[in-house]
Amino acid sequence: MKTEFSLTQLADPDIAEADKILRACVHCGFCTATCPTYVLLGDELDSPRGRIYLIKEMLEKDRPPTPEVVKHIDRCLSCLACMTTCPSGVNYMHLVDQARSKIEKDYTRPLTERALRAVLAWVLPRPGWFRASMILARLGRPLAALLPTPKVAAASPTLLRRIKAMLALAPSGLPKPGPAGGSVFPPQGERRGRVALLQGCAQQVLAPRINQAAINLLTRHGIEVVLVKDEQCCGALTHHLGRDDDALTRARGNIAAWLNEADRNGLDAILVTTSGCGTVIKDYGFMLREDRDFAGAAAKVSALAKDITEYVAGIDLQPQRQHGDIVIAYHSACSLQHGQKITQLPKELLSKNGFVVKDVPESHLCCGSAGTYNILQPDIASRLRDRKIANIAKVKPDMIAAGNIGCMVQIAGGTSVPVVHTIELLDWATGGSRPGLN
Ligand code: SF4
Ligand code: SF4
Repeated sequence: MKTEFSLTQLADPDIAEADKILRACVHCGFCTATCPTYVLLGDELDSPRGRIYLIKEMLEKDRPPTPEVVKHIDRCLSCLACMTTCPSGVNYMHLVDQARSKIEKDYTRPLTERALRAVLAWVLPRPGWFRASMILARLGRPLAALLPTPKVAAASPTLLRRIKAMLALAPSGLPKPGPAGGSVFPPQGERRGRVALLQGCAQQVLAPRINQAAINLLTRHGIEVVLVKDEQCCGALTHHLGRDDDALTRARGNIAAWLNEADRNGLDAILVTTSGCGTVIKDYGFMLREDRDFAGAAAKVSALAKDITEYVAGIDLQPQRQHGDIVIAYHSACSLQHGQKITQLPKELLSKNGFVVKDVPESHLCCGSAGTYNILQPDIASRLRDRKIANIAKVKPDMIAAGNIGCMVQIAGGTSVPVVHTIELLDWATGGSRPGLN
């Protein structure tokens, strides 16, 4: 694609990067076929190619974004299916990240929308606040039934519709908090490795059992696990809201905390059980490439970051139980399959450890969770969830496995089939408790 940035514009490293990405796009439109919003809405401007044109215009003209541009960028899930499909290697992720950041800086949203986004950006990365908000939301759930439901799914939802979606996502109860930052879990037997495990923010409130399963499995196989003190939210949530200053501050804080731990006690890897977070931590090196103080350290952290399944695949797991009668529908989280290109590994691990694993039809399509998307775009998100659940039902599973808490909550909201994390099943197969009972 031909671009028309001026030399002055190209002196900005972000614009130079956008220029490189835009020039790689050959307008072929292959990406439209796998874009969930194009599949649902059928509007070229809700396809990757359409959004790429809108972003190009916005950046080249260097004017505040128009409401039309904001509408179509906001409807993008950042699922990155387009990157998997694109034959030209267009890095849509870095382009849309830049667009979101520009929108956040240069566009004034309506007051209610600004307020909602500010609340989400404040509450979600803070586990204490998030826990309190979930308790409040639970109390407010009866109110959700009183709020009107639109007859036609809206692609530009109202504040009330979003509040209703938020209340519907609140769980009926919260588990006890998991172990605190600074905890160290020694290995059973001879130590074969030492890793940090990302504590996460929403996940540690909604499902501390996931990291507990990871700790149980790792220590059982000789790996020492540390929950690094002073670690905070990875920044993914605010990054996807376009709030880069917040996201980068969090990234720098985590890099300092993890490398301090690595220098003092050694770390073989930083493990992540929420693939949405893993995709962003693996991108820290890019996000901080222009930061003279942090660029090298950020690249080091990105290289240390691994999805839990990547690390576990390198351990000789000792299965203790066979579950050949249990059919697992494996839901491939977008951040794992498109963001990190981890597709077969989780399924292979589950199969090797005794489960019958089934692929879900249309597995490339997002479930509609996508960070805060199911709150900000609840109608599109619900349609995607219903489609995902219908596809999952086709394989008649006993359980659904996924590697991302956002997907787990989204899918569990529409089915009675138990939804568990891949690591919970692997822990179960290697001597841990059955997921759902611990
Ligand atoms: S990230 Fe997903 S929703 Fe956004 S343009 Fe790409 S395929 Fe479409
Ligand atoms: S598939 Fe790639 S090259 Fe083709 S239009 Fe989409 S982003 Fe551009």
